[in-house]
Amino acid sequence: AAKSEGRGTFRIFVPEYDAKARQRRQLELDLRQALARGEFEVHYQPLVDLSANVVTGCEALLRWRHPERGMVSPADFIPVAEDTGLIGEIGEWVLKQACLEAASWPGDIHIAVNVSPVQFRSKTLALKVAAALAESGLAPERLELEITETVLIRDDEEALTVLQQLRELGVRIALDDFGTGYSSLSYLHRFPFDKIKIDRSFISDIGEPEDSSPIVQAVVHMAAARHMATTAEGVETEAQREVLRQLGCSQMQGWLFSPAIPAAKLKQLLSKQAAAA
Ligand code: C2E
Ligand code: MG
Ligand code: MG
Ligand code: MG
Repeated sequence: AAKSEGRGTFRIFVPEYDAKARQRRQLELDLRQALARGEFEVHYQPLVDLSANVVTGCEALLRWRHPERGMVSPADFIPVAEDTGLIGEIGEWVLKQACLEAASWPGDIHIAVNVSPVQFRSKTLALKVAAALAESGLAPERLELEITETVLIRDDEEALTVLQQLRELGVRIALDDFGTGYSSLSYLHRFPFDKIKIDRSFISDIGEPEDSSPIVQAVVHMAAARHMATTAEGVETEAQREVLRQLGCSQMQGWLFSPAIPAAKLKQLLSKQAAAA
C-alpha cells in the first residue's frame, strides 16, 4: 500500500516499519507518563568484595513496572528515553531515589548509579548530583557514578571538565562495561577513574575455549598500577569467582551472589550481614 502526502508526493508504506514506528511512539508516550504515575522502581544489585566476601556496595538498576506489559527491561526503554531527552528527568529521579535509599544503609556501603552519556553531556550533571547529595544527606564518597566509554569518544576536554567537577564534589567515578566500547588504554591515563567495571562478555568467557582470563588479568594489573579498583560484571559461576579472586580482581557482581532486588529485600540482606559481623 502507498499513502500520498499532498500533491505529487508518495511515501512507500511498509507495514512492519509502520508497526515498529507506532510501537516506539507509544513507548515514548508511556515513558512520559511513567514518572508521573510512579511506575519506575529502583532495584539494587549487591557488589561483593572478592577477598573478604562481603557486600560493600550496590548498583542501582532501573525497573519499569508497565501496567500492561509487566516489567520492561531498561535495555528496551533507556535508548528511547535517551533519544527523546526523557533520560534527563528519569536519570535525575533515579539519582535522588538511590541516594535517599542509600542514606539509610550502614555507613560503609556505597551506591553506584548509572549515568547516561546524554546526562553526562547536559552541563547540569554536577548540579544535579550536588542536589541529590544535599537532599539525601548522603556522604559524597558513598556515591559512585558509572559512566561508559562513549562519553569519552567526543570532546576529551569537555568530558575531562565534567569528570573534574564531579571529582570536586567528592563522588567516585567508575568506567562501566569496560572493553566493549572504543576507548583505548590512553583514556585510563588521562581520566581519573576510581574503578573499572570489566564487561560481562569477558567474564562469561573465563574458562571457555576462547578463554578471556589473560585479558581480565591485564585489565586488573593495569588498573592496580593506576590505583583503580576492578569489578567483574555478570559473575554467574563459582569457577569464574575463583579465577577472578586469583587474578586479584577487587569486586564482583552477578547472579552467583544475587540479581538486582527491591530496596526492602536489599535492606534485609544488609542488616543480616551487619548482624553476622
Ligand atoms: P549495566 O550498568 O552494565 O548493568 C549491569 C546489567 O547486568 C544489569 O542489567 C544487571 O541486571 C545485569 N546482570 C547483573 N548480573 C548478571 C549476571 O550474572 N548475568 C547476566 N546475564 N546479567 C547480569 P539491567 O538491569 O537489565 O540493565 C541493563 C543496562 O541498562 C545497564 O547495564 C545500564 O547500562 C542500563 N541502566 C539500568 N539502569 C539505569 C539507569 O538508572 N540509568 C541509566 N542511564 N542506565 C541504566
Ligand atoms: Mg552499570
Ligand atoms: Mg555494566
Ligand atoms: Mg556490562
